[in-house]
Amino acid sequence: MLALVKTAPGPGLSLTEVADPLIGINDVLIRVHKTGICGTDLHIESWDAWAQKTIKPPLVAGHEFVGEIVEVGSNVNDFGPGDIVSGEGHVTCGRCRHCMAGRRHLCAYTVGLGVGRDGCFAQYVSLPMTNIWHHWPGVDEDVAAIFDPFGNAVHTALAFPVLGEDVLITGAGPIGLMATAVARHAGARFIVVSEPNPVRRDLAVRMGATIAVDPRERDLADVQRKLGMVEGFDVALEMSGAPAAIRAAMDNMAHGGSIAILGIPTQDISLDVNEIVFKLLTVRGIYGREMYETWYKMTVMLQSGLDIKPAITHRFGFRDHEAAFATARSGDSGKVILDWTA
Ligand code: NAD
Ligand code: ZN
Repeated sequence: MLALVKTAPGPGLSLTEVADPLIGINDVLIRVHKTGICGTDLHIESWDAWAQKTIKPPLVAGHEFVGEIVEVGSNVNDFGPGDIVSGEGHVTCGRCRHCMAGRRHLCAYTVGLGVGRDGCFAQYVSLPMTNIWHHWPGVDEDVAAIFDPFGNAVHTALAFPVLGEDVLITGAGPIGLMATAVARHAGARFIVVSEPNPVRRDLAVRMGATIAVDPRERDLADVQRKLGMVEGFDVALEMSGAPAAIRAAMDNMAHGGSIAILGIPTQDISLDVNEIVFKLLTVRGIYGREMYETWYKMTVMLQSGLDIKPAITHRFGFRDHEAAFATARSGDSGKVILDWTA
């Protein structure tokens, strides 16, 4: 099959012939239809410090996908050829305390699809049956392809109750954009999105933001005044990884407010812990999504009117992977989809 492979240490990904994945008795083989490009893939492609210490080439990259089952192991009864599925990219150990208790998203021994095992930027991918999410008939495959980052958005946006609350979202990358739509769907009052990129600010407004501001030009206290807010933000979703964004969020929280941090900083950040103490803030780290409560919520929210499609801005055939990666890297994009069927 053809796959996008990190063949050796160093920048780049090569579209090259590799052996089809093998499946064991508990695994499922999927013909990939569409994949999403994630920031993680950009790190792997550019071979930055994180990739150098994490990735062991050769590796097929990619973890966001939708496809069609073509073969199942002898132990697999729940799925069959023709089913349209996505996969949870965190392959958990199944034996640790959290896995045994049904809290697989807390497993400390997770192996990541397209990170620690061959991923989905390929014509075929294999996964254990426990990682398969079965879509409903007629699902929009562009949307199904990005259930993984959509899950990050849902898990973060619903980490704290937002009904009637004033929500700050720092960072309007694909995940911040989807989180904006989720917070709107879940009944937030004001949703203020802070994002330096004007293309992404426009998208944020389309996704349901009350207002989208450039943090370099406008401070959040001023935005609060304009909206008539008096208490500060009840909930903040940190989706940029930027030190300035986390600090601005903490400065603008209401007493008793909650901050969910999804963004991954690339450097040490100093924070004023007094702010957390004296404002009685709750700060929660978010990694991945819940298996499979978040997947269930994604499905039913889409079926009850949530629309995340405006967050998908570009589509490419897999042979145009270089242009697709350049578009994703430019920042002037939402989610970028690669089609593997063309
Ligand atoms: P992205 O890099 O596309 O988006 C981040 C956005 O933050 C960019 O649009 C950038 O312009 C904006 N930004 C930069 N400085 C800012 C500032 N000071 N204030 C406000 N916004 C600022 O990333 P994404 O794919 O949307 O993912 C969001 C974050 O979540 C990234 O940090 C990513 O690494 C991380 N992530 C975490 C998980 C997890 O499981 N915890 C999973 C996926 C991604
Ligand atoms: Zn485990």
